[in-house]
Amino acid sequence: MLDNLGTSLKDAVKKLAGKTVIDRAAVDELVRDLQRALLQSDVNVKLVMHLSQAIKQRALDEEPLKGMGVREHVLRIVYQELVRLMGTPGEVALGPQTILMAGLQGSGKTTTTAKLARYFQRKGLRVGVICADTFRPGAYEQLKTLCDRIAVPCFGDPKEADALKIVREGLPKYRKLYEVIIIDTQGRHALEENLIEEIVNINEIAHPDHRWLVIDAALGQQASEQARRFHEAIGIDGVLVTKMDGTAKGGGALSAVAETQSGIVFIGSGETIEDLERFDPDGFISRLLG
Ligand code: GDP
Repeated sequence: MLDNLGTSLKDAVKKLAGKTVIDRAAVDELVRDLQRALLQSDVNVKLVMHLSQAIKQRALDEEPLKGMGVREHVLRIVYQELVRLMGTPGEVALGPQTILMAGLQGSGKTTTTAKLARYFQRKGLRVGVICADTFRPGAYEQLKTLCDRIAVPCFGDPKEADALKIVREGLPKYRKLYEVIIIDTQGRHALEENLIEEIVNINEIAHPDHRWLVIDAALGQQASEQARRFHEAIGIDGVLVTKMDGTAKGGGALSAVAETQSGIVFIGSGETIEDLERFDPDGFISRLLG
């Protein structure tokens, strides 16, 4: 797994090759290279500093495992610390559950809702989707069209302005009929009070098993702030990073994960309904550092 690490880190670690004792200067240099790569990938500065400290300390304090050279020892620590930063990959149970989707407009929330419906459907579960986005014109039609393609029912009413009413009506009905229920909510371009207030209310009514945050991989530094606000409001327990098929390295999304102390559950890797993958820490780390 360590072979997968990104090229900048590999270069940095090369400098340790052949060494038999670790010296502070070599570790400092490696950490500097690592910091550069992470900051370029939009990982939050505070997180990078935190990580650097942990790596430095462990690299110098811990004894290499039996049979491990200096290079492998340091690589192992870097990898472990990066994995820790990402949290444990969020668990995805294949049983009855309600999932509440949170995120800003444009993050890919609606598309991801349909992708998730497809995922659970393929696992043999009966899935229903509720469109509680009454804010954006066309939101219901968009979701309904996606759901129709996979023959998943979509509860909603394009003429209704009250999202809470839709959830109050739709959820009890769907809970009787379906095993997995995914609730899409409104997004906005910014973190407005109304948006947060509404999702808090929906969360109280729905008592979902999961509250997942959708974050665009290209988001950069604003990702932490978004994650913090949503997490404070409803307690995010999983993050879905979208648009990983683009050029973004996903460092902002990683910072969002740290903010919510949760883990990444899925990665969005394209525009079609099938483009959803379970999270793989190795791939993510390689990309972040490459
Ligand atoms: P919402 O406003 O958060 O509901 O966002 P949408 O679901 O409408 O998505 C916004 C745009 O992002 C649409 O054009 C989607 O096709 C696109 N999109 C969503 N997820 C992905 C992804 O994983 N990869 C790519 N390339 N595009 C995506």
